[in-house]
Amino acid sequence: MQNGRSVQMFQQAQQSIPGGVNSPVRAFKSVGFDPLFIKKANGSLIYDEDGNEYIDYVGSWGPMILGHCHPDVVAAVQAAVASGSSFGAPTGLEITLAEMVIQAVPSIEMVRMVSSGTEATMSAIRLARGYTGRDKILKFAGCYHGHADALLVKAGSGAATFGVPDSPGVPQDFAKLTLTATFNDLESVRTLVADNRGEVACIIVEPVAGNMGTVPPREGFLEGLRDLCTNEGIVLIFDEVMSGFRVAYGGAQEVYGVTPDMTTLGKIIGGGLPVGAFGGKREIMQLLSPSGGVYQAGTLSGNPLAMTAGIATLRLLQQEGFYQKLEEKSACLSAGIAQAAKDAGYPIYSTRVGSMFCAFFTGGEVRDWPTAAQCDTKAFATYFRVMLEEGIYLAPSQFETAFVSAAHSDRDLDRTIAAARKAFKAL
Ligand code: PMP
Repeated sequence: MQNGRSVQMFQQAQQSIPGGVNSPVRAFKSVGFDPLFIKKANGSLIYDEDGNEYIDYVGSWGPMILGHCHPDVVAAVQAAVASGSSFGAPTGLEITLAEMVIQAVPSIEMVRMVSSGTEATMSAIRLARGYTGRDKILKFAGCYHGHADALLVKAGSGAATFGVPDSPGVPQDFAKLTLTATFNDLESVRTLVADNRGEVACIIVEPVAGNMGTVPPREGFLEGLRDLCTNEGIVLIFDEVMSGFRVAYGGAQEVYGVTPDMTTLGKIIGGGLPVGAFGGKREIMQLLSPSGGVYQAGTLSGNPLAMTAGIATLRLLQQEGFYQKLEEKSACLSAGIAQAAKDAGYPIYSTRVGSMFCAFFTGGEVRDWPTAAQCDTKAFATYFRVMLEEGIYLAPSQFETAFVSAAHSDRDLDRTIAAARKAFKAL
């Protein structure tokens, strides 16, 4: 694999951009490799600056459920840009996408558009605090909700502790308001809520955790959170930035039949352009400025190009059988990789919900952050490297989800499984 041009561009980028990248995961740091600089993509394929072609399972970290450059999305955005790329004034496109989101997602009665998932979760939490008049929030170790101060916190040692910031620059005093529980462990949540009775504004959770690899909720976990929140007057927020329109048209809440009070979205609803959204019960959403007092705003919020890409994408997702086909492809691929590992005598723990899947490099069950953290990340790095050399572009970390798109062909899947066979044998 030739990567001279990517290596040279990475060196150049490091002079002008911190770490050479505009988002840390792109740097390939955890696999000890230089990142590939991407020139273009089409369908299931992505091409780097050295002219290498890869089958892409990153999909821009989730948005590209149709694959890259779907002709309908490209045509819609091209037509939209000719009418103006931003007005800072309301448009009909915003109503259309809002109505589509409300129709799709069970918990959403009203919705506001923003420009990233981070903005969506940050704003949802402010609104939950405004609504309840409480300051504390509860999240789960290993769940990622963007980089707002309150959310850059994971568990301290032991079970239930006050938050410790993960990043310099997050004041201890902010982090203290973030309680961290264990994913899939209702008891850890009940304990924290009991110790902070009447003080917790919201519980925010990825209903299918996708940022510690893919970790599905155990039976009863989401239902238990729902009951607890109802009983304690806590706002339940499902962060469906990744799972929304991904695991089903109505997201994880449709799959598991549990309806939160609020939901955050991003990725797919922007069709590859920068979009996030948060929505929920009318009673809560109406507290948002200008109908209510909780402030939130954005120069580019509801941007016409982003709304257009989102509308075009959602229309394609509504087609009969879309999710069924994606499910079949994903099941075939994830089972094929698991079988390749088994045949090579290499133990992995395989997880999948719809088109989100992960091969954990561990023999044991992965159900939360502590069990995910036991994976052999060195072995994963070798696997990643072999897969890359075989033309398969995976996320450069054990703790990420792989995404299958509608553009992946049977041939792509076969090639990927054949590459995995080689990679597991190399371990
Ligand atoms: N929530 C979840 C569940 C996410 O996966 C992400 C991004 N991967 C975010 C929030 C943050 O979104 P963004 O990167 O658009 O700010």
